[in-house]
Amino acid sequence: MPSRKFADGEVVMGRWPGSVLYYEVQVTSYDDVAHLYTVKYKDGTELALKESDIRSQSSFKHRKSQSSSSSPSRRSSSRSRSRSRSPGRPAKGRRRSASQSREHKDDKKKTIQETSLALLVLVLFAGKPSENNTKRYNGEPESTEKNDTSCIMLEQKLKPDLEIKRVLEQYSLRSRKDDKKKEEIYSEKKTFMAVKPIEKVPTKTKELEFGGRIGTFMLIFFLPATVFYLLLMCKQDDPSLLNFPPLPVLESLWDGRVFGVFLLWFFLQAVFYLLPIGKVVEGLPLSNGRKLQYRINGFYAFILTAAAIGVLLYLQVELHYLYDHFMQFAVSAAAFSLALSIYLYVRSLKAPEEELAPGGNSGYFIYDFFTGHELNPRIGSFDLKYFCELRPGLIGWVVINLAMLLAEMKIHNLSVPSLSMILVNSFQLLYVVDALWNEEAILTTMDITHDGFGFMLAFGDLVWVPFVYSLQAFYLVGHPITITWPVAAAITALNCVGYYIFRSANSQKNNFRRNPADPKLANLKFIPTATGKGLLVTGWWGFVRHPNYLGDIIMALAWSLPCGFNHILPYFYVIYFICLLVHREARDEHHCKQKYGLAWERYCQRVPYRIFPYIY
Ligand code: NDP
Repeated sequence: MPSRKFADGEVVMGRWPGSVLYYEVQVTSYDDVAHLYTVKYKDGTELALKESDIRSQSSFKHRKSQSSSSSPSRRSSSRSRSRSRSPGRPAKGRRRSASQSREHKDDKKKTIQETSLALLVLVLFAGKPSENNTKRYNGEPESTEKNDTSCIMLEQKLKPDLEIKRVLEQYSLRSRKDDKKKEEIYSEKKTFMAVKPIEKVPTKTKELEFGGRIGTFMLIFFLPATVFYLLLMCKQDDPSLLNFPPLPVLESLWDGRVFGVFLLWFFLQAVFYLLPIGKVVEGLPLSNGRKLQYRINGFYAFILTAAAIGVLLYLQVELHYLYDHFMQFAVSAAAFSLALSIYLYVRSLKAPEEELAPGGNSGYFIYDFFTGHELNPRIGSFDLKYFCELRPGLIGWVVINLAMLLAEMKIHNLSVPSLSMILVNSFQLLYVVDALWNEEAILTTMDITHDGFGFMLAFGDLVWVPFVYSLQAFYLVGHPITITWPVAAAITALNCVGYYIFRSANSQKNNFRRNPADPKLANLKFIPTATGKGLLVTGWWGFVRHPNYLGDIIMALAWSLPCGFNHILPYFYVIYFICLLVHREARDEHHCKQKYGLAWERYCQRVPYRIFPYIY
């Protein structure tokens, strides 16, 4: 008789099919022929799981608030629980005993193939759900079951397509329903119940990204080298790829005064960030269930910066100082970001395990240093990552662009800037103002929720964004281009299209994540997932899987076009950006697949293209 690890009646953690989520389950029987455990969730759902999909409870740490409410139903049952039962879930007293199970084991194979998967997903709504919500959730007109609780019980029933069959085989899911009920399962979803999975305490990062230890080690050198190469190239009269720029003397790269100006800039932005103006909002729940608070005042910081720059110009401070010492500013910012990264890594060594970033906890120094070990490093309430994401670098980018515009006017003796320069400045100003105006949206992005704060983001935010993204304006100072009004109008139209896609896609997802019951989203459909979050399948997110990236790339092209076609250098941004977003998209897909399992696969089936419709 084969040995079994878990005994009948034992309470263990069972993996939810197709995902990486585990819930509390009780072992009810063991099939020693198929080597499958029958486990029961607290809401009554029974599934047959392989031993590898079961773990002892001790390997998980429960969230305090839900230490004993890990099953899909338990969380909602603290309120009055809906009486609606899933057709895929047996009524009490009708569950199979172990002996019954054995009687049926000859039929098991057949059952597996015939059975459709009834996934019970719990959706916790922020406010009281309305019938409307349910309809929208289901994507069906009249399938709402009235519920007197503040949660709606939804049951998603999936059609037995090939994918389901594969999952059924993989996870050996078994129907507990008779044939009559099976028919109901084949008809699309109805209702079910809110679930919040037990969150795992971050464990070691096993899958390394960015080429692992070697890749991240190389990137630490490659990224700064690229910035300096691009800036040196831009200063060349003929910045063609084969025309390698002469290396500057080392001493010329450092200027204490420039570093002082950089520090002044950084700390001025920090002061603006600390001002008690603007609302305070909560971020998404962390792995321990806690929500951090963030002050939304980036736009005010921008206004104050604009006022300060206005005063400087009024006092006839020459802003093109920035242009004259551009390389030294880049070196100062790089030195500062390196020092910041070292500080971040050192302090992360003392951070509690639960505050480490899911993606930056490999145990390898270089990797964790690069990707960021701690998720949300804070000094008191000062959130270092959140601050750096949108303030010094992003606002700095606009100031650099303005300095380039003034430098162009001065160097070429112009009374007004060139049309190309005006377009580049206006497009990028719109982008930055938009980001600051919608600052809250950043709280749901990967940078905040997944990536730690390490060299990658510190260098990216403080050096890469301001000094590489301003490359077109920098290029135009030394390489003036004349464009006609019709060309300018066409490029502006392209930028508007990109911006429209980018903004509406981001707003749609952000509003949906913040409040799925938002009446503005009433016409959108979505697929429920075992985590309680839905995946939009209509609207922009039903067009491609990353519509916001598509819009961003279109805009990137519009920023480069005003620079003409003499050199590829001003197109560096759009080329790099496509690579970045394709890579980022792959990372995000991987995370979503892990988070949502089967639901993500369904989403991919319904929305086959990632970024570019009919291409990719
Ligand atoms: P996204 O805003 O694209 O968010 C991805 C997340 O959205 C997923 O992890 C998932 O998270 C959620 N999601 C995915 N599909 C769906 C769906 N169908 N329905 C609902 N939610 C879904 O992430 P980024 O942080 O990469 O991008 C944010 C913006 O920043 C983009 O516009 C991007 O172009 C821009 N960006 C700009 C950069 C620049 O340098 N200029 C660099 C990087 C990004 P969950 O389910 O957990 O909510």
